[in-house]
Amino acid sequence: MHRNIKRTLIVAKNSGFCSGVERAVSIAEDLSREYNYVYTLDQLLHNEAEIKRLKEKKIIPIKDIESKNGDVLLLPAHGATTQERTLAKKKFKNVIDTTCPFVLNTIKIIKNLKKEHFKIVIVGDKGHRETRVLSEVAGKNLLGVYQSGKQIKEKSYGKVGIVSQSTTFETTLFEVAKRLIELSKEVRFYNTVCGETIRRQKEATEIAKLADCVIAIGGKSSANSNRLFELVKKINQNSFFVHDVNDLEKINLDKCKKIGIVSGTSTPKWLIEDVIRRLLQ
Ligand code: SF4
Repeated sequence: MHRNIKRTLIVAKNSGFCSGVERAVSIAEDLSREYNYVYTLDQLLHNEAEIKRLKEKKIIPIKDIESKNGDVLLLPAHGATTQERTLAKKKFKNVIDTTCPFVLNTIKIIKNLKKEHFKIVIVGDKGHRETRVLSEVAGKNLLGVYQSGKQIKEKSYGKVGIVSQSTTFETTLFEVAKRLIELSKEVRFYNTVCGETIRRQKEATEIAKLADCVIAIGGKSSANSNRLFELVKKINQNSFFVHDVNDLEKINLDKCKKIGIVSGTSTPKWLIEDVIRRLLQ
């Protein structure tokens, strides 16, 4: 990174944690004042630097509930399966559910669709926690989890209800829906992409058009940050994905006078501020 260049930064207004992650982190921090250790099922969010900060407060992610027990376990914002909930109650004195209200709303939609005998299509990543939780709710009615219309077999379908993982691209959801409309007798469509994700993607698109270069800040393992980076990179070739301030040293910003700053829903504000400070030095 070259210094002493006068730079203008265009910082996305939609930045910092989304409301679901913010709520989960704030509950965890409150509990950490009360208990020696607070365990969380999986990571509360996908950002290595923030996880490190939380670990210093003895907020510890665990993958395998079976291997631990303790006073308190937090279920993450993107939900937990029935098996995980049952096991959690056996192993921990207190189980606190931080499932995001938007995810709970998608669960409610799926339950209603099942009552009306619809098959369920979920648009999202098969391995993602939220999609696994939604698939479990759909149960035998699940037709499939898709990331593209091309994955849907050419045949005729009956009654199909479509929902999506909260952080999916809307364009992917619409593409899958279009394909199912062509092949099905009846389609019930629910756009369950989270409004906070949509606003971030729209703003990032605008910033990528205006800026000379774009810096997307997010965790290596954060699907939504990776997706945001892909989005800006398609529009602006001079886009860089950085995980922390040290990554700025590895990139060449010599020709960048106007730098756009965007970030995923699991990127903490303090990390964004660190990057901004370093860029303005
Ligand atoms: S992205 Fe949206 S649905 Fe997911 S945790 Fe954040 S606010 Fe909730």
